Order: sequence, then structure tokens, then C-alpha cells
Amino acid sequence: MSSITPATGVVSFEEARRIVDEIAAKALATRGGSGETEILDLLSARGRVLAEPIVADRDFPPFARATRDGYAVRAADVAMTPTRLRVVGEIKAGDLPDHLTVDSGQAASIMTGAALPSGADAVVMVEYTSVAQPSHPNVAKDATLGWGTLAGEFVDIQRSVSVGENFVPRGAEARAGQRLLDRGRRLDHAGIAIAASAGKSRVQVFRKPRVAVLSTGDEVVEIDAAPGPAQIRNSNSYSLAAQVQNAGAEAVRLAIAPDERGRLRELIEEGLECDLLLLTGGVSMGKYDLVEQVLGELKAEFYFTGAEIQPGRPVVFGSCGAGIPARVRASNPASARVGMPAPHRKYFFGLPGNPVSTMVTFELFAQPMIEALAGMTPQRLIFLRARLKAEIRTKTGLKRFLPAVLSGEFENAEVELARWQGSGDIATLARANCYLVIPPDRERIEAGEWVPLLMR
Ligand code: AMP
Ligand code: MG
Repeated sequence: MSSITPATGVVSFEEARRIVDEIAAKALATRGGSGETEILDLLSARGRVLAEPIVADRDFPPFARATRDGYAVRAADVAMTPTRLRVVGEIKAGDLPDHLTVDSGQAASIMTGAALPSGADAVVMVEYTSVAQPSHPNVAKDATLGWGTLAGEFVDIQRSVSVGENFVPRGAEARAGQRLLDRGRRLDHAGIAIAASAGKSRVQVFRKPRVAVLSTGDEVVEIDAAPGPAQIRNSNSYSLAAQVQNAGAEAVRLAIAPDERGRLRELIEEGLECDLLLLTGGVSMGKYDLVEQVLGELKAEFYFTGAEIQPGRPVVFGSCGAGIPARVRASNPASARVGMPAPHRKYFFGLPGNPVSTMVTFELFAQPMIEALAGMTPQRLIFLRARLKAEIRTKTGLKRFLPAVLSGEFENAEVELARWQGSGDIATLARANCYLVIPPDRERIEAGEWVPLLMR
């Protein structure tokens, strides 16, 4: 059989990420997620992507809301302090003070979350007041006021307030009809709070994209099988499935593909029925690394066939068009503009088989594609910085994402490399809590330097 040589191109990390972002943005624009939607109970929609905006059904807040316990006053009355005001009522949260007006020389006792009465334009915190004439239990309620205030009660105000202090005006957070959350937003607990406050007990979300996970390798066996002395268990399908689920998609674990063309091709074709296919293993330079060749036979278009990173250098990104001949890319795909992906193109990543490489390349490249297929604008990759605990010496040429431990507390974060045995070392990765990012031109980084890191 004649093998089709795929277009090759090893690109810098930034270029690889730019290509992924561009394809992801186009996939999002052409498909708007999977296109299909469903309606879920609010809590079941946690982690899902909104297919409808959440709109304010009324003003937020719906009334001028006191943010402190204290006294609703006219700021002008308390410009000079101390001063004494007559208490004309009490407003609890939930009360509607529509028969109460605070006139000059008056105050109303008010609780946090209660509606400001008319006439008042500020709230003095209770801490800066004292009841001037303690009430007696036998004093009758003032029937005309009706707010549970005791007739003849006065309050001494010790501090001035400005107009607008200690309350939020009606509609200050949002006006009725205003969009609170956009379509395409992934619902986290804050988004759930907004939907709940707008009365959305059920929300419309995009169907989760289906992501096929296909591990390859003659040495790889299922985790419940007894491995032979030279075999290893298929941990990648499980770590990837977990990452896929975290990213908001449904993982479809396929059977393990042997390093044999026919069966590998069958399984790849099965995987291409999903919205995205993630392969692991078989993308290096070994004699039995067949993934790119088989994808080439399936007329794949390759966007890149490697990135200058460690771990994960052999990572491959491309797409297959159902029955459509691939546009054959220029010899350096990085220099060519990435073509407009048609709605029916199926994307794939060939991730290296080493478990740490698999996990890192998923985060760097597959995650944004999944987010786009889920209907959301992919999140930017943001590196944080922490102080390096111990000097690092490394080789130049590749951008490195090395398992590291971020420790310390509060403002004193420090980071150090986890001592590892290379990209197969899952035990070290499990102990690590971030990746230390080392630029390709650095040979030595001194202790105390601020270094970028990627949380995981
Ligand atoms: P490959 O990328 O196929 O050359 O594999 C690189 C390394 O990753 C080898 O040591 C493989 O045994 C290991 N490996 C490949 N696939 C898996 C898998 N599914 N689970 C765990 N380790 C794997
Ligand atoms: Mg292999």
C-alpha cells in the first residue's frame, strides 16, 4: 500500500496556539456550538453553555436597597454632627415603605436589604448612632406610623453621610430588559446566581459536543485486564475523558487501537463521527507511529504536525472533511492562512502518548477547540507569576511546561519544579499542581525570579 505523506509543519508554541484559536473561532462562528439545544433545570445546567441570553426581568435592584443597618436620613440634615432626629418608622427587609416619608429632621430605622423610604437620600450606619430616648415596653405603638416605631423615639447621629451613601439605587446594577449573561457563556456558580435572581428556573443550553478518545499502541491494555510484563495500562483514555468532561463535553472512549493500519483506520473513522477526535500515541517518529499516515489516507488537512514545546512536541492538529478532498496545504502550513472550516469538517488532535504530554497538550490546544464546539468563546490562556524557589538549568530551543509545585500562602506564593522522570511520570504530575513555563531562550533561571506558570 502506498502511504500518503501528510503535510508537515512544526511551529512555535504561540503559532500553534494562534492556529487553534483561529480554527476554534471559525468553528464557533459557523456552528454556534453544536447547534442543538436543550432545556435544563437551573442546577443541572451548571458547567453548560447558555444557548439563550439571561435577561433582567426587572430592575436590579428592584428598589433602592439599603446596604447597612442604620437610619435612613436626609444627608443635609446630618451635615453637622452630632445631631438629633425624630424616628418616624422602622423598615425591615421585605417591607414596602410606601406610606412612609422621611422629612427634614426625621429618620427611619432601616435594615440591610430593606427599601429606602421616600425623602431619604442616605443611610447612616447604626454604629454611628445612639437611641436618644430609650423606648419603654409599655409605650404604645404609634398607630399613625404603623412601622413598629415607638412614639417619641429619637436618634442621635454622630457622623455625616453624603447623598447616596449606604444604599444602591434602583436599577443601578441592571435595568429591566438588559442582558445579564450572554449566549455562549458557561454557567458557573456566579452565572447560576444571576439566572436564579432573574427567575430562570430552567435554561436553554447547547447540547454537549461529543469528543472521541482513541488510545493507540500495541503495548496498551484496558485497565481491568491483567497487563503482560511489557504492557502498560491505558491511563490516557481516562485522563483525557476526565479532561474532556471538565471542559464541558461528553467523552466517548473508543477501543484501543493497535499499531496496525487497518484497525487503526476503522477506529479513526468511528471517532470522526463525533464532533472532535482526540488520539493519543503513535504521532512520534517511530516505525510504528502510524496515526499521521492513516489520517493522511483519510485526506486529512493538517494545520500543524508539531509544536516547539516540551513535553508534547509531536502534537498534531487537523481536520477531515467527510468525502471532501483536503486542500493540500503549502509545505509550511504555518505560513499559509488557515482555511475556512466548513460546518461538516471534523477536527482531530493527535496527542503524544506519554501521559504527561497527553495532559499538557490537551490543556494547551484541545481545550479551546472543545470550548468552541460547546458554543463558547474559548478562554484565553493566562499565565500567572510566582517567585522561583530554586534555580533551574535547562536547554534552550523549546518552550517548556514542566510539572511544578506552587506552595506558600496568601501573597507569598513560590514555585519549584517537581523532580520527575520525564513525560511518562504520572506520579510526579499528580503531586504537582501547576506547570512552570520556561521560555525557549532561557538556560538558567535564578531563585527569586518571577516566573510564569500555568495552573491546572
Ligand atoms: P507513543 O507516543 O505512542 O510513542 O507513546 C509514548 C509513550 O507513552 C510510550 O511509553 C507509551 O507506552 C506510552 N503510552 C502510549 N499510550 C498510552 C496510554 N493510552 N496510556 C498510558 N501510556 C501510554
Ligand atoms: Mg505508540
